[in-house]
Amino acid sequence: MLRLSPLSRILAGLIVLAMISCNTETAPAVEKGSAEHIKAVTEAIDDATLAGAKEGSKDWLSYGLNYSENRFSQLDQINTENVKELGLAWSYDLKSVRGVEATPVVIDGIMYVTGPWSIVYAINARTGEELWTYDPAVPKSYAEKACCDVVNRGVAVYKGHVYVASLDGRLIALDAASGKVAWEKNTLIDPDKPYTITGAPRVFKGKVIIGNGGAEYGVRGYITAYDALSGEQAWRFFSVPGNPEEEFENDAMKMAAETWDPAGKYWEAGGGGTMWDAMAFDPELNLMYVGVGNGSPWNRRLRSPGGGDNLFLSSIVALNPDNGEYAWHYQTTPGDHWDYTATQTLILAELEIEGQERKVIMQAPKNGFYFVIDRTNGDFISAENFVDVNWASGYDENGRPMEISEAEYKDGAYEAIPGPYGAHNWHPMAYSPQTGLAYIPAQGVPIVIEDNKNWVYNSNAGGGPHNNLGWNLGVLVSAVPPQSAPFGHLVAWDPVKQEAAWRVEHISPWNGGVLTTAGGLVFQGTADGRFVAYNAANGEKLWESPTGTGVIAAASTFEIDGTQYVSIAAGWGGVYGLSAGHAETATSGKVYTFKVGGTGEMPEVAPFEPGTLIAGVEYNPDDVAMGAKLYINNCVFCHGVPAVANGGAIKNLGYVDPSIIANLEEQVFAGPYQGMGMPDFTGRLSEDEVTKIKAFIQGTADMVRAQMEAAAGGG
Ligand code: CA
Repeated sequence: MLRLSPLSRILAGLIVLAMISCNTETAPAVEKGSAEHIKAVTEAIDDATLAGAKEGSKDWLSYGLNYSENRFSQLDQINTENVKELGLAWSYDLKSVRGVEATPVVIDGIMYVTGPWSIVYAINARTGEELWTYDPAVPKSYAEKACCDVVNRGVAVYKGHVYVASLDGRLIALDAASGKVAWEKNTLIDPDKPYTITGAPRVFKGKVIIGNGGAEYGVRGYITAYDALSGEQAWRFFSVPGNPEEEFENDAMKMAAETWDPAGKYWEAGGGGTMWDAMAFDPELNLMYVGVGNGSPWNRRLRSPGGGDNLFLSSIVALNPDNGEYAWHYQTTPGDHWDYTATQTLILAELEIEGQERKVIMQAPKNGFYFVIDRTNGDFISAENFVDVNWASGYDENGRPMEISEAEYKDGAYEAIPGPYGAHNWHPMAYSPQTGLAYIPAQGVPIVIEDNKNWVYNSNAGGGPHNNLGWNLGVLVSAVPPQSAPFGHLVAWDPVKQEAAWRVEHISPWNGGVLTTAGGLVFQGTADGRFVAYNAANGEKLWESPTGTGVIAAASTFEIDGTQYVSIAAGWGGVYGLSAGHAETATSGKVYTFKVGGTGEMPEVAPFEPGTLIAGVEYNPDDVAMGAKLYINNCVFCHGVPAVANGGAIKNLGYVDPSIIANLEEQVFAGPYQGMGMPDFTGRLSEDEVTKIKAFIQGTADMVRAQMEAAAGGG
């Protein structure tokens, strides 16, 4: 349905009057999916349309559906009664092999979705036919600058444009009808720094806003606003201070600098605080909200040895969207030591708390607590843990965590729970005003970390995970095995009572984001390759469909010509999915669209072939220990631990053809997989070091084989 602004309505009325008075024939209907149709419906997306989405829309207008980012659709044609009749309307093959994190944006049946490498797909959602694709041609060498896969979470649409941000830091405005570039801006303050963009842009008050990632490598976080039509830069907000010997950009930076110890020379590694995902907007308060990420390096003793809160790391920050001026902040993890980003979904809601109607902002960040904050001023209302945690015992009445000092890992290894993957990562949560529940894709991925006392910025001397690829964590992955177990839950959380209403157990961490609807439903995809509908009130499973690959993204729903559809973009990957997998089938990334009574055939998928444990590669057992260290410095976050995890988006080296490991030099020095993002290790690894890595891979496979044989022997 075409949405018209009040002025357009008056004009449309005049045109109709003119037509009647001229006694002309009615204009022929515009063909849906034609350029003319797309132009008309996307040009009608303005500030009023976006603001109106809060009251309900037949479309899915932006990444989180509306300015409140609650992912609660008021469409109720698909409901708890008929959801079991959902069938495939169509599927579209993204032909991708890496993580798909995008939420499809749909306007009157015109879908815009992104795949890996920031490629945009425009699809006619009435038929599933491709309208156009746009590939920003990100250099494949950029993959090594991205901690967490070459992913992209989607587009924004405004006044006839589609906005995508590319992995290599460009913000690109496309003509919504043709996919042609209208304008393009490089958002990077320094092209030599390892900044990347994976997030979806948002449009608030005619400005396109985008941040970036890179805090694992060492960068200074910022977001930038551009005029949506001209591309001209409007403002920029930094999340952490720069070198205090230089002039601060604003009073907020001056205030923030007082919470950092300059002895740590934090500006060298940038300080971190990248704003790579969540935003929301309250037009009445004229405040936009942005979630800020972890510190660079992770270890506070290295970036700010005298302690301090290190503002605005791990904070929710409120800004004036007109000029980017700081309004308030609330810091979820003061002085973050653990990669506890506060970039997770920000949701605006009206809650009745102790008899009072409160305008709140809610977040379930990585640190495992669910926060309810007054969004008018940043006042702390409440926080309770939604998973087990061991780094803090709770929050005091001032909104400060009661930290457990051992969690700072200064006296040895500590298994902080949640681990760095977070109790909740970027996978969007949803909130239903109908049930009063938030739906959190919660998880646990155990990792034990310890102090890296030898860390020096951008030096390989101290070692550390992916150190040789530019990572600057300031911590080591400990040899001490984790005590906690991995898990994945869908948690329905009551933000007023601050307790769980119900919980669904999944077989692994890293499940999809969540959609909730006025039909009383919650939709979530899973790591083991299913798309599932639950009863929003009690978590009862009502329907599921296989997806052929693990799902990490969130679904969207929309109405076309009177029929409600649900779409999910499936494609396994992301930082956890690079090296671990849980689906029994394997297929390329796909968009699936369902409707009640849909009779489309699911595309064929192949069973997942685990491969054979490698054998026969010659090695010197004395090289295994050094090989392990080199493997962690160079390989582990993409390829996983050899022969241990399997099924990730990137091959586990314990299950490849042994000749690949025997001739590993051919792979690592300007090897054939560079075209898929594999780094070139020429000059970074010696032949001798590659020999030691081979020893670690085959040695570990041999160890695993011996364990399997012992177990099979029934000992
Ligand atoms: Ca991080």
